[in-house]
Amino acid sequence: MRALARWREDFPVCESAACRKRPSPWRVLAGEKPGVHLQGHYYCGPECFQKAAQEIFSQLLPAVTRRQSKRHRIPLGLVLFSMGHISQPDLQGALQAQKDSGAGRIGEHLRQTGVVSEQQIATALAMQWSCPVYPLDSHRRFLDCARLIPIPLLETARMVPVHYLPSSNFLYVAFAESIDYTTLYGVEQMLDCRTEPCVATESSLEQALEELRQQPRPAEVVFDSVTDACEMAATARNYALQLGVTNVRIVCCGEYIWTRLESPAQTNNLLFQIPLR
Ligand SMILES: [Zn+2]
Repeated sequence: MRALARWREDFPVCESAACRKRPSPWRVLAGEKPGVHLQGHYYCGPECFQKAAQEIFSQLLPAVTRRQSKRHRIPLGLVLFSMGHISQPDLQGALQAQKDSGAGRIGEHLRQTGVVSEQQIATALAMQWSCPVYPLDSHRRFLDCARLIPIPLLETARMVPVHYLPSSNFLYVAFAESIDYTTLYGVEQMLDCRTEPCVATESSLEQALEELRQQPRPAEVVFDSVTDACEMAATARNYALQLGVTNVRIVCCGEYIWTRLESPAQTNNLLFQIPLR
């Protein structure tokens, strides 16, 4: 049985229905590993890979453009009021300020007027989203997770991965505004882990993001004008060929289609930013 599994591993069948080729025994005996794995499926060469990638991009594109609105929650102002942190006039004043400025978050308006502290906002957010507060300013473990998620994804969702537990395969991710469950789902699919959201103060999250920007990271390339599945697949193919990639995974993550290319030497991330229709 073990010999059969080994044989299947060394001579996988191309998953493209029109191809079904196995790698040449001579190339395998010469120590080469031709072909590439895409979402765990084997493709024998650039043509079969590109076709399969195009199909995946076509399937993911509608999911990105149909970005889900945030789940309904009790408004943060009401949570702060019910916790006794603000009075009714404070709440009305902040709502009016938000209306007058036409932008901004209610917590930010309240904090600027000195009515509530950052810590109180974080506690209220944690109550709003039913998750714990993470003391990001006093814990440095987020630096161990620095390479897991590309910076543009962290900046867009305003989040930082703070702690990874290999024993249970849990990744704790801190947010400071609202919890972006669609992005978390993309992260779970890409990293094959389970995520657990938590809340951190705005300033500690910003500080952590700044430190992560200074860390050595895998290459991250953002494409903001490649929005067609065919062009995305051609781009992924070109990078895969150039970098000698062996494993590719493509997921929808917030407003991006995140493509991770792994070769024995390095990991590269391609981020296709998709405008909301
Ligand atoms: Zn093939």
